[in-house]
Amino acid sequence: MPEPKPPKPPKLEAATAARPLRTAVLLAVGTELTVGETRDTNSGDLARSLAERGVEVEWVVALPDRLATVVDALRNALAAADFAVTTGGLGPTPDDLTREAIAAVVGERPAVDPELERWLRHLFERRGIAYHGGNSKQAWLIPSATAIPNERGTAPGWWVDRPDGRVIVALPGPPAEMRPMWEGWVLPHLAARGLGQDRVTRTYRLAGIGESAVAALLGERLLRAENPVVATYARSDAVDVRISARADAGRSPEQLVEEAAALVLAAVGTYVWGRDADTWPGVLGRELAARGWTAALVEAGTGGATMRLLGDAPWLVSSRLLAPAEADAPIAALAEQARNSAAATVGLAVRAVESGEDTRVDVAVSGPWGAREAGQTAFLGGTEGRRRAGVAAAAFLHAAVRDEPPAGEDRSR
Ligand code: AMP
Ligand code: MG
Repeated sequence: MPEPKPPKPPKLEAATAARPLRTAVLLAVGTELTVGETRDTNSGDLARSLAERGVEVEWVVALPDRLATVVDALRNALAAADFAVTTGGLGPTPDDLTREAIAAVVGERPAVDPELERWLRHLFERRGIAYHGGNSKQAWLIPSATAIPNERGTAPGWWVDRPDGRVIVALPGPPAEMRPMWEGWVLPHLAARGLGQDRVTRTYRLAGIGESAVAALLGERLLRAENPVVATYARSDAVDVRISARADAGRSPEQLVEEAAALVLAAVGTYVWGRDADTWPGVLGRELAARGWTAALVEAGTGGATMRLLGDAPWLVSSRLLAPAEADAPIAALAEQARNSAAATVGLAVRAVESGEDTRVDVAVSGPWGAREAGQTAFLGGTEGRRRAGVAAAAFLHAAVRDEPPAGEDRSR
């Protein structure tokens, strides 16, 4: 019987070049994170940066300065993703042990790199401090690591190549050091390997409906699909529905987004007021500018929530917070008064009154066509209820203006 042939050894060079970096795991290392003394802002920053480039972050984790825990997490990360990024644990003291953990995972021994040590010695001399060798860990390298220069601190990062084309990136914890190293060195090197996948994303911005109601209308099938991903987010100014797709089985991400968008609009289209980076001042400004209109605002009981939402938009020629006594009038009359006193095309009035645990909101818009008004109950009282009153006012103004034809169109037809 012939002996079974041994498996061919993997072609390391080819594998390295061939593995695109599409998925990542982020590990934030430092006991200060797991005891809640420091917030992990690094992972959020990195996640956003990677998502923008079409990288799927499989998971994000915060770990204490404990060797066995970091080693375990790194092993899991490399089993789950094309590359892993750690931040933190690169200090000079024994409790900083990200380097030790990486060395253990790849089975190599760290040694002081003469060039890094010269650089470190120079940094100390520059400040007139004797180099005592206590920082020598920061001059360590392992054979498969390349040092990532750090111009703002004494901790260089590591870029570690694995034979299968995977990569480990280790960056220092302080954001002021981590960020420039990420932007200036790591991202370009990751990009050279083929970072991420083309993704197309579209966001619809909704008002007048809660997140759970949006989810119910969209349905589980849409919300659980892997590609395109359709997800809802409750923001302070909107409920967002985000559609994101990558190419799949010969179909372009644009095509897939378009199909999902049709389903989303069929389900919740009536609540949509904007798209992608749209804001209330921007969207209202667009609608008003198309008609050559300006607006004036009065509000009461809102603590100025509507003003804060609309900001210093150029089309908002006047905004005023009314004292309770001034606000004791029919809401449509307040809108008409705002319009007249500021000589604006439209007047917007909003009045919020706490009612039980929620907030009663009355709004009116008065314009060349007359006035319209509405009342509703916003969920919760206090600051949250007032914030919702502001959003309700913006949405009501938007609906009222949108129903009127832009300048130049004949209304008499
Ligand atoms: P390191 O010496 O590399 O462990 O980093 C130390 C310092 O960086 C900590 O004392 C924190 O102030 C900061 N830091 C570490 N990790 C993070 C993180 N994930 N997010 C924000 N700051 C961090
Ligand atoms: Mg640390």
